[in-house]
Amino acid sequence: MIKMSKYLRPEFRDLDSYVPGEQPTGRSFIKLNTNESPFPPSPKATEAAAQAASGLNLYCDPDNRELTKTMADYFGVPAECVLMTNGSDEILNFAFITFCHSSCPAVFADITYGFYKVFANVNGVPYETIPLRSDMTLDYRDYLGINKTIFIANPNAPTGLAISTGEVEEILKSNPDNAVIIDEAYVDFGGESCVPLTQKYDNLLVTQTFSKSRSMAGARLGMGIGSKKLIADLNTVKFSINPYNVNSMTGAAGIAAIKDDEYTRRNCAVITENREYTTEQLRKLGFELNNSSTNFVFAKHPKISGEDVYLRLREKGILVRHFTPDNIKDYNRISIGTREQMDALISVLREITEEIK
Ligand SMILES: *Cc1c(COP(=O)(O)O)cnc(C)c1O
Repeated sequence: MIKMSKYLRPEFRDLDSYVPGEQPTGRSFIKLNTNESPFPPSPKATEAAAQAASGLNLYCDPDNRELTKTMADYFGVPAECVLMTNGSDEILNFAFITFCHSSCPAVFADITYGFYKVFANVNGVPYETIPLRSDMTLDYRDYLGINKTIFIANPNAPTGLAISTGEVEEILKSNPDNAVIIDEAYVDFGGESCVPLTQKYDNLLVTQTFSKSRSMAGARLGMGIGSKKLIADLNTVKFSINPYNVNSMTGAAGIAAIKDDEYTRRNCAVITENREYTTEQLRKLGFELNNSSTNFVFAKHPKISGEDVYLRLREKGILVRHFTPDNIKDYNRISIGTREQMDALISVLREITEEIK
């Protein structure tokens, strides 16, 4: 780490920034560490991006009108209810900036997407965490009437577990004076979307991304769906930070990807099937894991430490995600790839588990 300069804002001296999963260069790894899709984007999306490249001398549309309309039609909501962003990380950051302040702290689970804490810290907003149950499920009753800006990843990461839309609705009803943000990064792998509820509850913002199910992590495209007023608030912030937040190539690729939804559905079906297969195989090897609703599993072995599993896999050319906080350090989060990739993983894990017998 380079030492900080004397010019740094004092409140940033202790800022812990987000640590993304490793993106290795050189040695080729089987990459199961950042929940990317193992499949390339739709060929229609790559072609649209290539065509848009010839127009890069011009600024992109700051309102992303065509993309926003395409997305709104896809969800069956008015275009004024959709805001497109540079990955869903950007809409989440906008939500922290827009809806959290000293008398309205952010609140989220103690085990969830690590970026929430970072967004709170960088924006100088207070936050509180609520523990999950010991089985890592989220008890929606902990969020009833708490009068804070609520962030829930649903399905949650890294646990892979979801709450029902009925439970989200209870949270929405009991916090009418607060924004509730439901992060649906993984909803296409088996969750139930809350997007329809945005037309009924004006305190709901749902975020989604093209990074996982749509194979476009490198393009950086995400969105928020909410009431017209919530989206107008978020737009004010967006136009105060980065009006041209979605570049022309990504915008064009996004439109083409939505129009080729069949491609996404097929890939999601394969990944879901591979997840069920992997879950079953890992259980046979003695691993303990929940029934995930996402494109990853979160697994631990009663006799081998999480760090050992991570390091042994890495040695064999397979990257998974190991987190160091005490309450999750026994686990690894393993992204679901192709059947061949999962078989390679299982065969290394078999060797490791056989050694301890
Ligand atoms: C991957 C992920 C995101 C955001 O990803 P983007 O690439 O910025 O769209 C948001 N929330 C959760 C829970 C995620 O896992």
